[in-house]
Amino acid sequence: MNNPLHYIFPMENKRLPYQAATNENLFGSSLQVLAAMQQAISSVHGYPTPDAADLRLALARKQGVQADEIIVGSGSAELISLLMRRFCGHDKDGEVLTFTPSYPLYCQEARALRVPCTEIPLTSGYRIDVQAFKRQLRPTTRLCFICNPNNPTGTYLTSTELEQVLACLPAHVTVVVDEAYIEYVTAPDCADAVSMLPRYPNLVVLRTFSKAYGLASVRIGYMIAQRHLIQQVLEVKQPYNVNQLAQVAALAALEDEQFLYMTLQATQVAKAKLERALYKMGVQFWPSQGNFLLVDAGGYSADEIHNYLLANHILVRRADHHTLRLTIGPDEHQLYLLHMLQELLHPS
Ligand code: PMP
Repeated sequence: MNNPLHYIFPMENKRLPYQAATNENLFGSSLQVLAAMQQAISSVHGYPTPDAADLRLALARKQGVQADEIIVGSGSAELISLLMRRFCGHDKDGEVLTFTPSYPLYCQEARALRVPCTEIPLTSGYRIDVQAFKRQLRPTTRLCFICNPNNPTGTYLTSTELEQVLACLPAHVTVVVDEAYIEYVTAPDCADAVSMLPRYPNLVVLRTFSKAYGLASVRIGYMIAQRHLIQQVLEVKQPYNVNQLAQVAALAALEDEQFLYMTLQATQVAKAKLERALYKMGVQFWPSQGNFLLVDAGGYSADEIHNYLLANHILVRRADHHTLRLTIGPDEHQLYLLHMLQELLHPS
């Protein structure tokens, strides 16, 4: 088979050779984490530590908050769902506000609960229009989701912008700042939502171990908020929502700072290489604070490029009709991707 990556990811794995569609950490996961999980496997007969007490304590220390200001979830996706159920779903007549393009799960979850979801278009530079946000606030608005840095654009919200949003917030609206990619951020003026929590009773911050910590498979994320919000979300959380292996993995991941550091370094270097190569090829992309790049499909449609890459064992995400999102990965992946793009865009 004429596929340079075949020896790295045998097709028997049923995973495509270059899975560049879901923004996992393509540099892998921490060996310390794997060892901790292996050790914990002998205790799977028992229920997990209730409410992930040990992990919440470790996270609280790291984030400078109290353990009872944190809820751990089976991925941050579960927490999005719990927030939606608690504040909007089932007889509550609440509505959701979010932005577009952004992470589609916010609206998908709303739809699943038959909750109206309004998507406010980002500006042409993919920034939040605070005035448009103010105009869209209704007496029925309960939740607003802001992704920072934003998936799929990689753009970010500054502290000033987030303060502007929070300052115009009526008491009945809770803002959820989803920081799934925050570890990758290098922009010094990117908003630090956790530091704003003491001043804003209606603010929730979401984090995940699925991206920079390399634990997407394990399903673990967390939310931080003031106690009164945490208490309300706990009302809809199941008692053992996060399995013990996931809790052990997350605790070990917090300890392995070296792995996180190496991941962030490798991602920066690989992103710069991908940017340089795309630039040379004449492919437009947007500067990104995440482990992904949004690229313009140019004279093609996003579908055409997506399908061509798929036929060559590379899976990327179509963001809309004209743009695609590529996850940053090791050299051998990116070189293959670039090679295939070159063959499509500039056949010799
Ligand atoms: N938020 C954003 C912005 C994401 O991109 C993702 C995953 N793609 C999630 C949340 C969900 O992550 P998790 O694996 O923690 O459920």
